[in-house]
Amino acid sequence: MSVNGVVFVTGGNRGIGLAIAQRFALDGFKVAISYRENKPTGDFYMVKADVTDSKSIDNAIDEIEKNLGPLEVVVINAGTNKDSLAMRLEDVDMESIINTNLMGSLRVARRSVKSMMKNRKGRIIFIGSVVGLLGSPGQMVYASTKAGLIGAARSLAREVGSRGVTVNVVAPGYVDTDMTNDLEPARKEMITANTPLGRTASASEIAGVVRFLASDDASYITGAVIPVDGGLGMGH
Ligand code: NDP
Repeated sequence: MSVNGVVFVTGGNRGIGLAIAQRFALDGFKVAISYRENKPTGDFYMVKADVTDSKSIDNAIDEIEKNLGPLEVVVINAGTNKDSLAMRLEDVDMESIINTNLMGSLRVARRSVKSMMKNRKGRIIFIGSVVGLLGSPGQMVYASTKAGLIGAARSLAREVGSRGVTVNVVAPGYVDTDMTNDLEPARKEMITANTPLGRTASASEIAGVVRFLASDDASYITGAVIPVDGGLGMGH
């Protein structure tokens, strides 16, 4: 995609999303991010949006396109988690994770694809997770949503490929962010011990792969699930 093109990163105000937004901004793209309450510092176009609300997403993308131009790259990153053993799961928590991670991602993809198909170019990049295929105890719901993104991406890839739009999933392993802060130290150690590279990822290592998928070098990659997990999920 052209380096002065418009990129939208959902949940670009912190964590992995912010690293992705920073990387695209550094490379000269016009970057829009969504936030709910806390705006980050940075040279981004900022829209307040909640992925659990279709109107909020549609309005946010309308606003970005009116002010910056048509979306060329969308990074569907906003997500949430709450670990719980399956037998203790409450409906309210299951619904909230599914509504944010799966429904929220589908809402963003549905709106983004409209402009991309019209313009006959675009890159849609979902942020999945290694656990979508590997599974993880306490993450039945979270892993379901991340596995769901793979079906979504591959269906969409088949739907929009002839219009020059690619759709891929980046599946990170363990990245140090607010989301993983609360993990028990013993659990962190176990994950690191099972990761061939023996360490966690920095958010910028995820951002680099997302940036690659938006580049001309990735023009023939679609429907792919790209692991960025230090080898944790290899074979899955
Ligand atoms: P953080 O918890 O640091 O950030 C989550 C982001 O999602 C925030 O920007 C948050 O916005 C946004 N968000 C959450 N709910 C909503 C909502 N309803 N509407 C709009 N935005 C929302 O997480 P990470 O940066 O770690 O995670 C980013 C993505 O990467 C997620 O999809 C996550 O599942 C995935 N991932 C993370 C891994 C990790 O190890 N950290 C590993 C694999 C995948 P706000 O600030 O407003 O809350």
